[in-house]
Amino acid sequence: MSDLQERAKALDSADELAPLRDLFVLDDTVYLDGNSLGALPRHVPARLQEVLTREWGELRIRSWDESGWWTAPERIGDRIAPIVGAAAGQIVVGDSTSVNVFKAVVAASRLAPEGRDEILVDAHTFPTDGYIAGSAARMTGHRIVPVAPADVLDALGPRTAAVLLNHVDFRTGRLHDLPGLTAAVHAAGAVAVWDLCHSAGALPVGLDEHGVDLAVGCTYKYLNGGPGSPAYLYVAERHQAVFDSPLPGWTSHADPFAMTPGYAPAEGAVRGRVGTPDILSMLALEASLDVWDGVGVQAVRAKSLALTDFFLECVEAYAPEGRVTSLTPAAHGERGSQVALRCEDAEAVMSALIARGVVGDLRRPDVLRFGFTPLYVGFADAERAARVLAEILTGPSA
Ligand SMILES: *Cc1c(COP(=O)(O)O)cnc(C)c1O
Repeated sequence: MSDLQERAKALDSADELAPLRDLFVLDDTVYLDGNSLGALPRHVPARLQEVLTREWGELRIRSWDESGWWTAPERIGDRIAPIVGAAAGQIVVGDSTSVNVFKAVVAASRLAPEGRDEILVDAHTFPTDGYIAGSAARMTGHRIVPVAPADVLDALGPRTAAVLLNHVDFRTGRLHDLPGLTAAVHAAGAVAVWDLCHSAGALPVGLDEHGVDLAVGCTYKYLNGGPGSPAYLYVAERHQAVFDSPLPGWTSHADPFAMTPGYAPAEGAVRGRVGTPDILSMLALEASLDVWDGVGVQAVRAKSLALTDFFLECVEAYAPEGRVTSLTPAAHGERGSQVALRCEDAEAVMSALIARGVVGDLRRPDVLRFGFTPLYVGFADAERAARVLAEILTGPSA
């Protein structure tokens, strides 16, 4: 065994989160794509089977009430709340992240003081956020100002209505300064909207503590909710009474079953709902959140940093000089839970990695992405991934 293999073994045996791995369906591949689709918790299929057979099959319509289907969006929102540092009653689950970005950006522009006409959007954002913010801006008479997160401070001004930022950059894994940027946005009199897709479930977010106004995030990445599981919307309590959704559906009505022609919004997080929730996906997500019982986000963060540090160290030790360069910041305060390596022939290298049982992904043209999900990825996985990567980079075929 090499030194790094010995170290991996020692780190795994000292890891208090290591037993959580057994809660997931995994095989002998190294799964470093949990930042794209989280693994399946073992107990979820049986729970879904029960939902299908008992709740849908036998109870049918009664389940909206008797099985708690109707209130699932708020109930599950309250399960996600502690993971992102929010008190109960501020998060509602439903729709996709894309749709929630739309709700949040339009609502933010409506919350902002009159006469402000600019919406700042992370210039390197995940595409859907940019497309949707662009459309929202056209509809509300605002102008989009694309801005790198490092330049937000300079771009803020008396014309800024709202700012949409990603907590962690999906491509590079860079963690942005949510507390500092939120404070700066507020100092400029604007509204801060954060996209938590690549941070929730991997590191502390502190939505309430840092005074975030609105936030969205998906649940199929580090929250392991399953493919296409519904996203969530956070509306800080202080904004709820004036939160004006651009998609006021019947399920966010104060009295949905009155079926009245006039819209009167419900109180609280429910105001972010739109239409009938996708119950099967939603209940799969609810069950999958059980793996968080008794797990602290601080411990997850500590392991995530240790894992990415160790992976970077192994890559440095094993990989031929100059073949890959890390795009992920070395500073802990600027790092999410993934490592992005720039590599000239990234596409061929990732195919070779997957063929050899190391599953990461590719962001074209030249980025190898490795997501580290602390709940089920261990140090031996990190060492093996780096070793296989180095073998591929050294070999003739890459
Ligand atoms: C994954 C991700 C999305 C996904 O949006 P969907 O509507 O679920 O397809 C959006 N924004 C960011 C930043 C993401 O990382």
